[in-house]
Amino acid sequence: MTILNKANPAVQAYAQSLLDFIDASPSPWHAVATIREQLDAAGFSQLSEHDSWQLKRGESYYVIRDDSSIIFFRVGQQSLQQSGFRIVGAHTDSPGFRIKPNALIRKQDTLMLGVEIYGGPILATFTDRDLSLAGRVSLRTKSVLPNIKLVRFQQSMVRIPNLAIHMNRKVNTDGLKLDKQTELPLLFSVSNNQPQSSVDQFKTLLAEQIQCQPEDILAWELAVYDTQPGSLWGSNSEFIANSQLDNLASCHAGLSALLLSTTQSDLTQVCAFFDHEEVGSESTKGGNSSFLSDTLNCIASASGLDQQQYRQTLANSLLISADMAHAWQPSFPAAYEPDHHVLVNSGPVIKVNANHRYASNAVTEAMFIQCCEQAKIPWQRYVHRTDIPCGSTIGPMSAARLGIQTVDVGNPMWAMHSVRESAGVLDHQYLTDALSVFFNAS
Ligand code: ZN
Repeated sequence: MTILNKANPAVQAYAQSLLDFIDASPSPWHAVATIREQLDAAGFSQLSEHDSWQLKRGESYYVIRDDSSIIFFRVGQQSLQQSGFRIVGAHTDSPGFRIKPNALIRKQDTLMLGVEIYGGPILATFTDRDLSLAGRVSLRTKSVLPNIKLVRFQQSMVRIPNLAIHMNRKVNTDGLKLDKQTELPLLFSVSNNQPQSSVDQFKTLLAEQIQCQPEDILAWELAVYDTQPGSLWGSNSEFIANSQLDNLASCHAGLSALLLSTTQSDLTQVCAFFDHEEVGSESTKGGNSSFLSDTLNCIASASGLDQQQYRQTLANSLLISADMAHAWQPSFPAAYEPDHHVLVNSGPVIKVNANHRYASNAVTEAMFIQCCEQAKIPWQRYVHRTDIPCGSTIGPMSAARLGIQTVDVGNPMWAMHSVRESAGVLDHQYLTDALSVFFNAS
């Protein structure tokens, strides 16, 4: 087993490349654009679901559904029905806020933006942060379907200022509780002495940012993001902190492992990264959509397989659902199952749940352990406390939809769903090494 040297500059540089990846990806739409850029640079060809596909062995491809879910793959050298697919699944979205359609709220002279909560963020962590907006906007065209533009405000633009402790004396004993309807609107501007105009200042600003007319903006999906870049921390810089480590860290590890794999591999290697995991995956492009099964079916039929051979292919396939895991935080011992602590920088975690909130089973756990052993990296096993409901991932639904043997794994992290999460430098390298073995080993 390789216990990496904490000061290893290559491993730290790799962790920094993850932080850069996240900083370039403030929303799921941007995450897919960032991945796409890397795939284009590596010579992948884009496929469209509107066309029929011609595929060649050893060649690499990607397909995007609705801007924020992406599947990319490299066609293996061996016959598909014998080798099956090797799939790494993850999600591109993170919990937080989305801007409401009628966004602008005016209270006295203060302008605010109304938000809906997306998924299950730790609301209190979003207060007093340098927040901004990123997402996609639909613009008017002459046909029915709109023109889509990605938009990102670089500068900090919105904020949820805390109430001073003088007005909230119990905040340190009772915790910070925020009313979801009335206390989350984002402070945006003050319009001192300006006459109340009928112009929507927010729409005007948005139009300036994407260089269009405000009246051409028909709809938007805008996420609130933290503008603070990712950082290394700890006495040996052995930890990382950033937003969206859950689950862009797993996307980055899967992407890196696939890009590093040989184009001569026998196996057909697939990464499938979905939006909407944090809100239940029920959408045209979520983990419970037809996206992965449609794509695998298209690869099989482009490879000349009939339905019987496709079933054979799925039976020979394996899926790793990669999503982050809860690291032991020693100040809160009561929150953890005492015999299944997982530690930061001690290797990827196999997630086990008897009620199949995680898809791992004895076969797939053992498969992943052997990937780690061959990669010469440590691994850990996680079980949630028996008296606290366990989270879930895209693992069980993908396994159910496809009938593919699946394991749930992920790197240990602290403060999952905080706007500022943290994890380990070494673990990111370890997981990537394990996924590389998975993509290449027979
Ligand atoms: Zn997650």
